[in-house]
Amino acid sequence: MANKDTRLSVDTLLVHDQRHSKGAVAPPIYQTSLFTFDSYQAMVDRFRGDTEEAVYSRIDNPTVSVLLEKMCQLEGGEKALAFSSGIAAISNTILGLVKAGDRIVCVRHCYPDTYRLLQLICARFGVTTQFVDGTDLKEIEHALPGAKLLYLESPTTQLFEEQDLKKIAKLARAADVITVIDNSWATPIFQKPIESGIDLVVHSASKYISGHSDTVAGLLVGNGALIDKLTSETTPYLGAKLSAQEAALLLRGLRTLPLRLQRHQTSALVIAKRLNEHPAVTAVHHPGLSPAPCSALTGYGGLFSFEVDDLIDIPTFCNSLGLFRLGVSWGGYESLIMPAEVSINQAGAPSAAIDFGVPARLIRLFVGLEDPEDLWRDLDTALTLTSPAETDNA
Ligand SMILES: *Cc1c(COP(=O)(O)O)cnc(C)c1O
Repeated sequence: MANKDTRLSVDTLLVHDQRHSKGAVAPPIYQTSLFTFDSYQAMVDRFRGDTEEAVYSRIDNPTVSVLLEKMCQLEGGEKALAFSSGIAAISNTILGLVKAGDRIVCVRHCYPDTYRLLQLICARFGVTTQFVDGTDLKEIEHALPGAKLLYLESPTTQLFEEQDLKKIAKLARAADVITVIDNSWATPIFQKPIESGIDLVVHSASKYISGHSDTVAGLLVGNGALIDKLTSETTPYLGAKLSAQEAALLLRGLRTLPLRLQRHQTSALVIAKRLNEHPAVTAVHHPGLSPAPCSALTGYGGLFSFEVDDLIDIPTFCNSLGLFRLGVSWGGYESLIMPAEVSINQAGAPSAAIDFGVPARLIRLFVGLEDPEDLWRDLDTALTLTSPAETDNA
């Protein structure tokens, strides 16, 4: 008889799986659109909701279900759903919970495409959004009465400001407002918002959960009644499902998530501290450098930002780097750099960066799994090459 230990740590849970068919350690990838029934009665029973087998992969798929079960264990949620992208998880959740006339309260400096979803799509359907400073509890408290949903991201994109999740969740509950948080930055390894009283957690699984920069995916975990509402009223009809292939990639990513995050944490802290002491750097935005007293984080990932003085030419600095590559996204194995001035000047859609005053001289770094000393030499050399003293001597 196999020993069923119920006190397993996260690291063990993520590596150990049930034995799959034929003793496989990795779950089979159910590459099928539909599942057939043994009999007419079996089909009737399933459609009535008396049984639970998969019917159609737009609604559920056994490979995806293994992933969802793991996410519930990790975040401490009752139910979970998987989507074709992080923004699909966010848009399905928001659109499924609001109706015309509702008001959303959202933290400023949120992920720019979340901002555009609220400003372009929600607004078109008569749903307004009030943006608040997530570090200002009074401002949040004043905004809550009468709102339908409070959308959080802690820490925020670009400036990495943290919110007091416990206090905010309590205020929202008292005002009967549903709370949703984007937990992509910390992952459940470093932050468990449901334990702080948050209702729903969304993830861009394209980042750390995938961990290999080879898939785009999203996840939602949390309150069972709210997720049931979404699955009965919204998600089947918006249809942004995750494929079995991609669920298998995310399960692969989860097995090494705690290990990878430890490495991102130590390397990014080393680099953030050195940048903080560099004469050309005017600010470093990393939640670990001056931890907020209200912090719900138990660790820090590899993504943070810094600002450089006017003497540094940002394009020359970026072009001088050999290891940090210019690119959007983050959370994979490779180090990346993203200057704010490029996203501020993005064509077309309204810019969250402009509207919230993200400093134009801000540069976002993602510290990957390379040796941190190699990464530091790369940054230090590029800063020196770009500084005016060096240019004068040249
Ligand atoms: C990337 C990202 C998203 C969007 O996820 P996609 O998988 O690209 O759709 C949402 N939130 C945060 C914080 C992100 O970094």
